[in-house]
Amino acid sequence: GHILIGGGTGFIGTTLCKQLKSKGYGITVISRMPGVNRLSWGELQDKGLPKGTTAVVNLAGQNVMDFSRRWTAGFKQNVFFSRVNTTKTLAGLIDNATCKPEVFVTISGVGIYKPDSEKEYTEESQVTPFDFFSDLCNQWEKAAHFEKPDSQKQCRIVTIRSGVVLGRDGGMIKQMYLPFYLGLGGPVGTGCQYMPWIHLNDLTNLIIYSIETPKVHGVLNGVAPNPCTNMEFTKAFGKALSRPTLFPVPSFVLNCLLNKERAVMITEGQKVLPKKTLSTGFKYQYPDIESACREVVSK
Ligand code: NDP
Repeated sequence: GHILIGGGTGFIGTTLCKQLKSKGYGITVISRMPGVNRLSWGELQDKGLPKGTTAVVNLAGQNVMDFSRRWTAGFKQNVFFSRVNTTKTLAGLIDNATCKPEVFVTISGVGIYKPDSEKEYTEESQVTPFDFFSDLCNQWEKAAHFEKPDSQKQCRIVTIRSGVVLGRDGGMIKQMYLPFYLGLGGPVGTGCQYMPWIHLNDLTNLIIYSIETPKVHGVLNGVAPNPCTNMEFTKAFGKALSRPTLFPVPSFVLNCLLNKERAVMITEGQKVLPKKTLSTGFKYQYPDIESACREVVSK
């Protein structure tokens, strides 16, 4: 098969491409930067889907965790439209293709579920937008839908609502590695808030599983089966690094530094279970936070 991957140059995309190549898949990456086996978004719109595309994946999006960028109205727009518009573009191209791919895999976030200290969320839970990220996730997921009945019949849509992705070279771990390594790490706020998470390899395996398994469709929670709190993650990460984690970071400090609207990703959390993901038969390599942290630190 041949896979078209939007945002295939990023943290998740790089690992996904490596794994797909090692399984013998052909790959075209859509990127704003030119390169071998790459298309720009403009070229894609002019030429349509590459011939023989069997699956389309979209991982494009302005990095929310880029803390060098201030949380301005303009940056928020980039965060929003880099996800929603790229997804819409790909859905439109599939709609208009005469020879359609078998599957369209898109990513979304657990930020679609409202932070709550008691509720347990599964793929069946109701979702109603309540803030910037939940609104984004809703529109992002809707953007993947096809208009033509033919496309709806011929191409499965899989939407993976991902938790915080744990891997050495990107996302949250990249931001936290140095302070924790220096022994300056600690919980955020009380540490009682849930932190839905998934190991990078499990997420890329889940994307590949979604591509290869015809019965999989609709929303899947991309989180580990053992949810943990921010405190449990902090302890596990400190232990894997053999470092103390004595310095809590007060929530108000993050609210000031990152902007409250963005800081909710870290200062608040929700308990999310991968009920449907497990029922499809997907197997996790890193089901618990200790083994995931050990792997992240081992490199
Ligand atoms: P990265 O920031 O590492 O990569 C995203 C890619 O998107 C980049 O490589 C870039 O490709 C492309 N991109 C960035 N800005 C824009 C823009 N303004 N317009 C078009 N394309 C853009 O992200 P991750 O790999 O960590 O995440 C991939 C997706 O998964 C994102 O949408 C993210 O929201 C989502 N996700 C990630 C989580 C995590 O913990 N990492 C958790 C939940 C969801 P190029 O420069 O080649 O154009």
